[in-house]
Amino acid sequence: MSNPYQAQQAASSAAAASANAGFTNYVQEKINNGVNYVCGDCDSKVTLKTGDIVRCKQCGHRVLYKMRTDQIVQFEAR
Ligand SMILES: [Zn+2]
Repeated sequence: MSNPYQAQQAASSAAAASANAGFTNYVQEKINNGVNYVCGDCDSKVTLKTGDIVRCKQCGHRVLYKMRTDQIVQFEAR
């Protein structure tokens, strides 16, 4: 007796590749919303649009440093 072997192949649906969005896109905010600053007091990120008051929204500090790149470049002085 011959056994009819039925090989049922389960079609594995390829899941959509999930984008690894682990990093915040600072550059995108710069283009769309405004300019990013870093508070000189609490180091929190502050996004300001044109005409906004230069002030930290977290602590109210009024000295903000401009962020030019998407990551803070740190130079180590020897
Ligand atoms: Zn602050």
